[in-house]
Amino acid sequence: MVIGGGLSGLAASIRLAHFGKRVGVFESHTKAGGLNSWYERDGRVFDTGLHAFTNFASPADTAAPLNRTLRQLRLRREDLHLCPQSHSLIRCGTTELPLDNDFAGFRKRIATQFPEDRKGFEALVERIEQCAYADAPASEHPARKVLAEHLKSKRLHDLLCLPVFFFGNAWGDQMPFSAFATLFKSIFIEGFARPQDGMRPVIEHLTSRLLETGAKLHLGCGVTKINLDNSGKFQSILENSGQIFTADCCLSTIGAVETRKLLGDADAPAPLSNAQPGEVQFVESFFELDDAPAVYGLTDCMQFIGLESNFAFRPMSATAPTDSLLVCVPDNYVGVTPTRMLRLSAPIASLGPLHNDLCRDAMSPGIKSILAQTLLAQLGAYYPRLAGHAKFLDLYTPHTFCRFTGHANGAIYGSPDKFADGATGVPNLTLAGTDQGLLGIVGALLSGVLAANRILK
Ligand SMILES: Cc1cc2nc3c(=O)[nH]c(=O)nc-3n(C[C@H](O)[C@H](O)[C@H](O)COP(=O)(O)OP(=O)(O)OC[C@H]3O[C@@H](n4cnc5c(N)ncnc54)[C@H](O)[C@@H]3O)c2cc1C
Repeated sequence: MVIGGGLSGLAASIRLAHFGKRVGVFESHTKAGGLNSWYERDGRVFDTGLHAFTNFASPADTAAPLNRTLRQLRLRREDLHLCPQSHSLIRCGTTELPLDNDFAGFRKRIATQFPEDRKGFEALVERIEQCAYADAPASEHPARKVLAEHLKSKRLHDLLCLPVFFFGNAWGDQMPFSAFATLFKSIFIEGFARPQDGMRPVIEHLTSRLLETGAKLHLGCGVTKINLDNSGKFQSILENSGQIFTADCCLSTIGAVETRKLLGDADAPAPLSNAQPGEVQFVESFFELDDAPAVYGLTDCMQFIGLESNFAFRPMSATAPTDSLLVCVPDNYVGVTPTRMLRLSAPIASLGPLHNDLCRDAMSPGIKSILAQTLLAQLGAYYPRLAGHAKFLDLYTPHTFCRFTGHANGAIYGSPDKFADGATGVPNLTLAGTDQGLLGIVGALLSGVLAANRILK
């Protein structure tokens, strides 16, 4: 039995069903995909999570996580219709560092832009390459400390942190080096792409693959309780209509804190009992441009912007004003279906005094629009031609994430306490997905595959 029909839950179920297991997936939402799903508003399709598909390695690299994962799920890479990025940009203060899917070129760029750090950067890459990709417990070494050991330039240090922190930092302005290394590989070494028409066809493809295997997908079936037997082993779940389902084992993909709640906080064994809720939250806003993005000077696929000269990735409790922004321009990926959409995301402390409004239960459309315009004005400082040409479409907040995915605090990268081997302390109840420690689309799929493999063993 699998709790959660996000990417890790779908992947685990497909893999288990391939090996003859009877699998039931329980998903509280009315559609699959979880944090990386889609929704429709006024006839438009929005991707909830997707900025970019990380881990875009060459098809020839058979050991790359994307190719490995697809092989284990018996999926064809061409069915994902991935369109590579042309180029992206990292900005910190006044420094710009272009980024594309050519890591050799990126290395050369660093050597030219930061000659004093050429050797240090190479040593850092070597150290990153030595880190195991998956199943490795988070190392004790803080990433910023390791970066400072290798790099003389604090600016280069911040430029490298910007994309990594945006794409998977559950810890705030610091993160374990092993987690940094995994994300660095997926972003800088393997690169970015985007499915031609967003996540909807990808989720639909995974869902039909799941159903073909014979697994059952119970949509709109939230699990409200996990029951253990007298010996402390997983026995059954209670689903929101009052039905009880039993199984030999259970894989939970909803998060450590969230799984503990279903067990009853007081009954949860260690290590589950020690997990802390995450605090890193985002606000996501969408706009429609009057014309093609390039008309306004927006030619990058993504921009990671540190607005201050020193980049700090602040957790929700900070009240600092604007500090960083992620800009996503889907139309700039090579071969995507154009939509003229612009997406701006910010870690929540970026909005300083407006933070309280974000945490309210209901936010009026007026406040949403003000927040969105705040983010747009930050981008407008770099692209004055945008003024008056970006129509606000939608904005969602940690409260929205929490409501639709059940993630505590709406923290998209989950708990800062990760469970590399999925062990919860209950012998036949394991964790996969966000709190296993592998993040992103490919990370979540791979996490599901690895969890299934452990169960099959
Ligand atoms: C705003 C945002 C931007 C992102 N950008 C990117 C990006 O550009 N590129 C990238 O690669 N990754 C991105 N990610 C990260 C990526 O989406 C996640 O790492 C990945 O989707 C996590 O998948 P998962 O299966 O582990 O968890 P989830 O997607 O959280 O799946 C868990 C599922 O469990 C369900 N559930 C919860 N509680 C219950 C319950 N009690 N009973 C039954 N079901 C339950 C939820 O509804 C959900 O469907 C982004 C995420 C967000 C939110």
